[in-house]
Amino acid sequence: MEEDLEALRIGIDSAARALVKGFKDPEEGGRIESWSFSGKVLSLVISSRRLRIDEAAMRVKNVLEEVLGSTRKIGVRYVKLEDAFIEIDGEVRVSIKLPFIRSIETANGRTKIFLEVLDEKDLKKPILLRLLRLLNEKEVRAGWGGKTEHWQLIRQSKIKFDTPITVEDPNRILEEAGLVKRFSIGQWLYTPLAVYLLNTVRDVFIKEVVQPLGFQEAVFPKIYPLEIGLKTGHLRGTINSMIFASLPKTYNIEEFEELTDYMYVTNEAPPEEIAKYLRYPEYFLCFAQCEPFYWFFSNELLDDRSLPIKWFDRSGPSFRWESGGIYGLERVIEFHRVEIVWLGKPEQVVEIRNDLLKAYEKFMDEILDLEWRMAWVTPWYYEQSGAVEKVEEFDIDRPGTIDFELWLPYKGPREDRKAWLEVGNISIHGTKFTEPFKVKHNKGETLWTGCSGYGSQRWLVAFLAQRGFNPENWPPILREYIEKNPPPDPVITVTYPKTRSGKELLDKLMKYLKR
Ligand code: ATP
Ligand code: ZN
Ligand code: MG
Repeated sequence: MEEDLEALRIGIDSAARALVKGFKDPEEGGRIESWSFSGKVLSLVISSRRLRIDEAAMRVKNVLEEVLGSTRKIGVRYVKLEDAFIEIDGEVRVSIKLPFIRSIETANGRTKIFLEVLDEKDLKKPILLRLLRLLNEKEVRAGWGGKTEHWQLIRQSKIKFDTPITVEDPNRILEEAGLVKRFSIGQWLYTPLAVYLLNTVRDVFIKEVVQPLGFQEAVFPKIYPLEIGLKTGHLRGTINSMIFASLPKTYNIEEFEELTDYMYVTNEAPPEEIAKYLRYPEYFLCFAQCEPFYWFFSNELLDDRSLPIKWFDRSGPSFRWESGGIYGLERVIEFHRVEIVWLGKPEQVVEIRNDLLKAYEKFMDEILDLEWRMAWVTPWYYEQSGAVEKVEEFDIDRPGTIDFELWLPYKGPREDRKAWLEVGNISIHGTKFTEPFKVKHNKGETLWTGCSGYGSQRWLVAFLAQRGFNPENWPPILREYIEKNPPPDPVITVTYPKTRSGKELLDKLMKYLKR
């Protein structure tokens, strides 16, 4: 018995060491505050700053089994976590409906979450792991003070316009001259002339940036099953700006008769009635546009021969609910984007990103000849081996995002932060997508992905905002493009464009473009 107790003391000492293993600062690991032993039950009071409680409990168990097993042939029958609570900096909102949570107290800038009794089975459940991760994330977010993004300038162009060529708002001109017509909130119909302008800038982008780097065109679907959004994380992170789609409950038109008769007679389509005939939303509309890329390689085994993969998709619209932020063509619900995607080993992914970065810079600086800047905008946290860490400093070769911004003179002087528009970005995701989608390398090497979005509407608006509608003020490549590809005729009817000034504007634009 005395020997057993001695072995136990040794075991607990080892367990204490195991609880700080892997932490540079032992304060951050776990600590055995006290312990007692009665009969067959060993009770430990453990506190920990960064080691998760499930992990702490399992470490103690493993060490005790090893020490007691080898010296005294004593095993550990089971582990139970009682009266466990998690204390978080910041008053954080957590749903009491979540599994394993017994109660929550918030006071004096701290949140205490009391957990149910957890047995060994529970401790190994991914659902508990995810709960702990969620709590950790909320704590980091609370510490970040609600800011969603880091913004750190990387590079910027020189000042190119002593006085701006124009300070007109191109959104207004495009609408007034009738090149686009508002279809519904945040949606436009683009007439052939508007499409011509959108394509001019986009085609030059594809020819000068995308194709020389060897990206090949694919066509991605544009409505996605919910499961995809769960894997990419968008359903958790951006559900407030996603648009959902429902299938009809039945294909049998007769079952709609009550509804169709009603619409026939009243000439009304009441959404709440229609909803009764629909299934729950099982899809969301294209949000990030790169989701299908990860899906495609999901559960596939790639070898060196097949890497890296470099594709792009320009086949369709993306949809985002932007609520009060909707404006002109700049911030719309339905927009068009060239989405560039790549997959490879980390060094390949970084190299491709660097090549793209150079090409983007040339595109903004020489080809379009605009005032631009690039910023590092990694989100406020960084998910690494299961723990969420605050981003302290940036390393451009780590996963993260770079935004491209162009100056909008019509919005104000370039010193004003709000006078800049994000037109595109470029990201390295690390394993953020290859892990959940199980994209694997045949020799077990790590695979990363990257993506870059070119928002067609935004690039056009920003280009016109700086260089105006008169091609005399445009850079040579674009002038050549319109000489080779003459613009289509505008839409002119008795009643369209709507106003006299709109008609005059259109007249002026056509004189510029048709020379
Ligand atoms: P913002 O911060 O301006 O809302 P974002 O960070 O949401 O932009 P991303 O998710 O990075 O944008 O999308 C990539 C690109 O798609 C953007 O750089 C932009 O060109 C375009 N884009 C995004 N949302 C819209 C929108 N509502 N209207 C038009 N283009 C958009
Ligand atoms: Zn993407
Ligand atoms: Mg946005």
